[in-house]
Amino acid sequence: MKILIKERKSRVLSPSTLKCLNDTPTLNPTAGCAHLCSYCYARGYSNYPGDGTIVLYTNLVEKLENELNRKRQTPGFVYFSPSCDAFQPVKQVLDTTYSLMALLLQKGIGVSFLTKGRIPDRFIALFKSHSDNVNAHIGITTLNRQLQKQIEPHAATPGTRLKNISALVQIGVLPEARFDPLIPGVTDSTDNLDPLLKILGRSGVRRVGLNYLFLRPIINKNIRDDLGHTKAMEKISQAFCDNVDLKLLDGKSRVNALNPDFRQKQYKHISLLAKQNGIKTYVCGYKNPDIAEDLTCSNIWQKYSDKNTVQYQLFNDHHSEITISQTSNPD
Ligand code: SF4
Repeated sequence: MKILIKERKSRVLSPSTLKCLNDTPTLNPTAGCAHLCSYCYARGYSNYPGDGTIVLYTNLVEKLENELNRKRQTPGFVYFSPSCDAFQPVKQVLDTTYSLMALLLQKGIGVSFLTKGRIPDRFIALFKSHSDNVNAHIGITTLNRQLQKQIEPHAATPGTRLKNISALVQIGVLPEARFDPLIPGVTDSTDNLDPLLKILGRSGVRRVGLNYLFLRPIINKNIRDDLGHTKAMEKISQAFCDNVDLKLLDGKSRVNALNPDFRQKQYKHISLLAKQNGIKTYVCGYKNPDIAEDLTCSNIWQKYSDKNTVQYQLFNDHHSEITISQTSNPD
């Protein structure tokens, strides 16, 4: 992995382009990500430094402090990190992430993150002192190490991600799991998800976010490169061939989406499996605007209390009410 050290010129805290993040600013410690997931949309971004390279900014902590001092309103939470992973297996990245998170938490600002990396012990110790201000999401879609390695070659193993969950639960941070993206024919089968849901349920996970893969051109290319002529690739091609959303294609979208009926049926099936393990599910209304009426995940990045937890429109409770409201794509 090549690490380019640079000074950050632009602001450290950015407003999110994701509507579901509301007023939660986002922070990317790096451009590029060491995990190199096949389905990563950030690999198509204009500032992506290329596979095998990450840009690490040296002056993030100092800049963050200045920005926070200048802000009239302190954010409740900061979300790490829409275009990279805060817990990449690179010491310099972890050191920077630690300093950034420690600064925020010491100022009473919460940290939200979604990770497929290993959370080192020093972070767990930090989170323990600020457990009310930590909102953790663990991305995991399979227990099959071989499959996981194919699609997320440098991310943490499924076993390590389960250890993250246990460590967080032990310090009083209840993490959510994210089945995102579900890859049709590969990670969305009952055989794959049932054992995963059983372990997650036993580990204390109570909520799982669901989202199917949307095949953008860059993802299509990378998945084909990474999986080659394998059975898994055949299944993905077949699923997109059988279930592609023609309305999106007619609209000249360059994103291949699975049709709403297919996604809706599958989300419902997975929700029922989850329910058997004491887990509730939700579907991101931003990523699935044609299925979910609301941005049901809109509060998940922010601090939540018992009070606003009940405001979530959980998919388990509402799947029968879901209507197809529009056919735009998640771009
Ligand atoms: S962990 Fe996230 S940002 Fe990093 S390569 Fe995977 S999908 Fe992309």
